[in-house]
Amino acid sequence: MIAADSHCHLTMEPFDEDRAQVLARAAAEGVALMVTVPARKGDAPACVALAESDPRIWATAGLHPHEASSWDDAARAELRAALASPRVVAVGEIGFDLHYNKSPREAQERAFREQIGIARAAGRPIVIHTRNAVGPTLAVLREEGARDLGGVLHCFTENAAAARALLDLGFYISFSGIATFPKATDIQEAARLVPEERILVETDAPFLAPVPHRGRRNEPGFVTATIRFLARLRREEPEDLAARALENCRAVFRLPPA
Ligand SMILES: [Zn+2]
Ligand SMILES: [Zn+2]
Repeated sequence: MIAADSHCHLTMEPFDEDRAQVLARAAAEGVALMVTVPARKGDAPACVALAESDPRIWATAGLHPHEASSWDDAARAELRAALASPRVVAVGEIGFDLHYNKSPREAQERAFREQIGIARAAGRPIVIHTRNAVGPTLAVLREEGARDLGGVLHCFTENAAAARALLDLGFYISFSGIATFPKATDIQEAARLVPEERILVETDAPFLAPVPHRGRRNEPGFVTATIRFLARLRREEPEDLAARALENCRAVFRLPPA
């Protein structure tokens, strides 16, 4: 199978010891494209450098809602500098996380809206993180006219109604290993209804390894386990779903043809 991992965090410390082997295993699994997302403020230059060093890797830049209270001139400058690289294909992950509430809600909303504005000025799509916050997330996306930018709702953990609302806004929906967990029945219902031209698959590595790797450090090569699970659920061939999700990843991030 030839596949994409639409969202991972390759610059994070759990990969510092064996990043080259992780990338080699991804290649052996057929992972032809990875999008690496900054793990924290200050991480964008490392993501850009990694993307510039490997033709399979592309990057995003943006401040996670967990860190929204540190959205300041340094964070703005980091994002703008990263967007000067053609290897940086989106602004994200941005949005709301009202589950962990690591930054106050007002700060999350301010950083979210302002980064959508920067994405618009830079002509980039957005990567959305939302946790326990789908209502406020949809409201901001609508108010900010995010339909024109396009983008991905990453690590989808909502229900079918939320999926429909996001599809109506023109967004792609990316499923992670969480979809393979036995209790994830709402997510699985949503995964059945997303049309083939809007589905993406990701690892969010090093977090959230899919069944049967659950509990281990996640890595991009494990995306194939989630693809096989989703293909069974959707009554598709794994190779077809993998190819379609790869094509969608290229489309949403406006990547050149392979
Ligand atoms: Zn996220
Ligand atoms: Zn992430």
